[in-house]
Amino acid sequence: MKYRSTRGAMAQSLDEALLSGIAADGGLFVPEALPQFHTDDFAGADSMLEIAKILLMPFFEGSRLADELDGILLETFDFPLPLTPLPVDSGRADLLELFHGPTAAFKDVGAGFLAACLCRLEQKAATPLTILVATSGDTGGAVAAAFNERPGIHVVVLFPDGRVSERQAHQLTCWGDNVLSLAVQGSFDDCQALVKSAMADESLCEQYRFSSANSINIGRLLPQCTYYAATSLRHWRETGRRPGFIVPTGNLGNAFACIMTREMGLPIGEIILATNANRIIADYLAGSEWAPRASIPTLASAMDVGNPSNMERLRDLLGDADAIKEHIRVITASDKNIEQQIRQNYAAFGFAICPHTATATYAYQQLSQAVKDTNDWVIVATAHPAKFELIVEPLIGDVVPLPRSLQEIQSKPSRSVSINADMSSFKTALHDRFYLDGDVQGAIDSVN
Ligand SMILES: *Cc1c(COP(=O)(O)O)cnc(C)c1O
Repeated sequence: MKYRSTRGAMAQSLDEALLSGIAADGGLFVPEALPQFHTDDFAGADSMLEIAKILLMPFFEGSRLADELDGILLETFDFPLPLTPLPVDSGRADLLELFHGPTAAFKDVGAGFLAACLCRLEQKAATPLTILVATSGDTGGAVAAAFNERPGIHVVVLFPDGRVSERQAHQLTCWGDNVLSLAVQGSFDDCQALVKSAMADESLCEQYRFSSANSINIGRLLPQCTYYAATSLRHWRETGRRPGFIVPTGNLGNAFACIMTREMGLPIGEIILATNANRIIADYLAGSEWAPRASIPTLASAMDVGNPSNMERLRDLLGDADAIKEHIRVITASDKNIEQQIRQNYAAFGFAICPHTATATYAYQQLSQAVKDTNDWVIVATAHPAKFELIVEPLIGDVVPLPRSLQEIQSKPSRSVSINADMSSFKTALHDRFYLDGDVQGAIDSVN
């Protein structure tokens, strides 16, 4: 299969799309044509791995990785993705828990798959790939964990010092020698600006091979389709009905994967995007122009996005706002709604949910009784509540125990380098960790 840019650049192989992340014309890579499936195509496949293999095989046609898909999937899905039935009064609602990976958020799936692909593609590279990630929390931890101690790949995580919680900071700074954690004296936007400047800096690009692992990489999108496929197929087999999905949404990566999976023919019913007070998608579908905005800080901070980049893929797939409206609905939750949901959920069901998941349970609550009675719903849970204990614990008046993965992370020593939010500090830190490194220097000398 070939991949083209949403802005029209020529088709590239999967391997090129994975390595470059973003297309040369600034667009996002999309498959030239989506494969089409019938439920019979999955006959005999029941586990996540079996279903994932059938679903993703066509995307790997012509890739150097085609014969390695089994190994890539084994590495990606080495943690469970359980479906927990909620004891709702009528109808059926299940919670799809995507937070049992190494950093307890759904981004572990995409980051793990991308790392499994890139380290196989990079096995014989002369100079290591340096992956830059600006992060305000979840992304940086998932990417660092996924690439930790992978040979031939360096990761640089830039986060705004003092603006992430202590627990989150630890998840960004406890990794091996190939991960450089930079505590930037500035904002998340400063971190992002440094990444952009570095990737556009010709002299730096002569010394390093940069790539980025943010959510626009097709390698983070593809594996997310598999849990929508597996969940909907199992539900279909069991009940003969297509479940609807409610997906907490920020940059639209996870929800886009759900929409794409339905477009490939999997038995998915209605798709509802749950957002926080950053209303850009809701306003666009209600008739406003698509205009990037500054993001508003909310309790569901990993969804604080003013300009969701995957909208470009969604328009490419479905068309303009009127066409998109035919396919999805958006329900937005305020911080007050989020707080209420966390409390209510704990009172009703006896377990805590994270603020992002709370936007989805809020959206479910907003559905009419008739829709709840006649349709089955899958509510997507994107992070473990213990990641956001400063918000969740006061609301429920109880402690949220750390899952084992986060306990392991908290017990590792932490180290980071503090830098000013300017290119010369950034370059020095990069140079000190990676450029003077013996084998890296050797590799660069031999290339020059
Ligand atoms: C990143 C993130 C989201 C938003 O996902 P998108 O793919 O950006 O829409 C939701 N919840 C959590 C916990 C996240 O980390």
